[in-house]
Amino acid sequence: MELTLWTYEGPPHIGAMRIASSMKGVHYVLHAPQGDTYADLLFTMIERRGTRPPVTYTTFQARDLGGDTAELVKGHIHEAVERFKPEALLVGESCTAELIQDQPGSLAKGLGLDLPIVGLELPAYSKKENWGAAETLYQLVRGLLKDIPQETLKQSKTSWKDEGRRPRVNLLGPSLLGFRCRDDVLEIQKILGEHGIDINVIAPLGASPADITRLPKADVNICLYPEIAESTCIWLERNFNIPFTKTIPIGVKATHEFLDELHELLGLELSSSINQNNQSKLPWYSKSVDSNYLTGKRVFIFGDGTHVLAAARIAKEELGFEVVGMGTYSREMARKVRSAAKEHEIEALITNDYLEVEEAIKESAPELVLGTQMERHSAKRLGIPCAVISTPMHVQDVPARYSPQMGWEGANVIFDDWVHPLMMGLEEHLIGMFRHDFEFTDGHQSHLGHLGGHSSTNEVSSQNAPIQELSNKIDSQKALHWTKEGESELAKIPFFVRGKVRRNTEIYAREAGCTEINGETLLDAKAHFAK
Ligand code: SF4
Repeated sequence: MELTLWTYEGPPHIGAMRIASSMKGVHYVLHAPQGDTYADLLFTMIERRGTRPPVTYTTFQARDLGGDTAELVKGHIHEAVERFKPEALLVGESCTAELIQDQPGSLAKGLGLDLPIVGLELPAYSKKENWGAAETLYQLVRGLLKDIPQETLKQSKTSWKDEGRRPRVNLLGPSLLGFRCRDDVLEIQKILGEHGIDINVIAPLGASPADITRLPKADVNICLYPEIAESTCIWLERNFNIPFTKTIPIGVKATHEFLDELHELLGLELSSSINQNNQSKLPWYSKSVDSNYLTGKRVFIFGDGTHVLAAARIAKEELGFEVVGMGTYSREMARKVRSAAKEHEIEALITNDYLEVEEAIKESAPELVLGTQMERHSAKRLGIPCAVISTPMHVQDVPARYSPQMGWEGANVIFDDWVHPLMMGLEEHLIGMFRHDFEFTDGHQSHLGHLGGHSSTNEVSSQNAPIQELSNKIDSQKALHWTKEGESELAKIPFFVRGKVRRNTEIYAREAGCTEINGETLLDAKAHFAK
């Protein structure tokens, strides 16, 4: 048992639903109790789809458990095939149905239906949503390609030249309820078009079972979201000799590297006529003098593995931030995130407990949090600016406007979205100089449309409450006392670094054996840490 209030990922059958709903001509029969249809709302409200997901639930009730639930499954499979006439059928269970063990996949295969049927084994008590999506895509691709003749095996990396055509690639991984997949696909498709590379199949988003059978015709697979598509890419490489890209094109540098890697895999020369540098405004925006104040901003990053790895690199190498904390809830990506964290000389946090993440945020006292919807809530409580970079997300992260994260335009979107929550340079400077203004008060961010008084005593104290709480905890370990003068010296520190200064001063005081902290102790601590 694990006490859980918020969860970063849903159960694995939600991942399977994401694959079915992203595709055309696929139907999913889900053996599940009455009430599990709540998952439809993820697609109709968060993704704002105009159609119901292609899912038939058996919706068994308590009274059905006394009868034959296997018959119920068979009846629903017949009905679904009759009514929706899918090209392929997925059959699986939700958590509760897993306990009854009706084996719906095997039941479906025994019905003599004339269409490909993929039975899904998704262990709901040990795996989660992204794993469920990856496994479903993998089983579906395997199931649909098992009869494809071996002559489709790609011979060499320049087969496309020998056949006198442009190179073509598959884009694998984009799905509904993925982070900005809709626009990432458009952006990558546009960039590849400019490099003379065609798209063979995009899957699962928008693909039909017939499209899946065309996957082996590509020269390279582009693995856009490893959490969803890596296992499928590995299988396609093993069975059809199609290599796949490992670089995720999020950020300017990563997009350059991605293009290099792809051209190398295709045996295609990278065209120098396209001035790739100028295609994103991020490099110039972050070089321009107005971005000077961004240098060294302390940032905490949390989310799925792919987006965290990309964000940490952009934060450090493209925006000049200091990464003071990073972690992921994607256990499958833990190794990669751990080794990336080492480069930032920090230890990665691998957890799916949002309270642990919140504690880590408090500990590292960042000036900006890049995270999921959960971190947005935590950061709000802590009074720290935040931008969302990964799922889980809410409806505001499926915007109407074009908002990719990948490619050149994705970097533009990232620059705006990450910098916006921070206080604008001039305001930051002015608040540091004049802290008695009645409108632009301590902690106020006028560009976010706050009214003056954000720092009315109550709010400031509630904003600093967690930091205060933490200090109190430390205080109680070794009775540290802040004098009035010490507190007023601390109040001169701009609010966004105040938490950090308080902690450092207390660490210094404890090391120096002081029990009282006055203005002088604070200045000594400052000098000590500046060494
Ligand atoms: S079966 Fe699983 S998804 Fe459905 S309500 Fe129970 S725990 Fe939630």
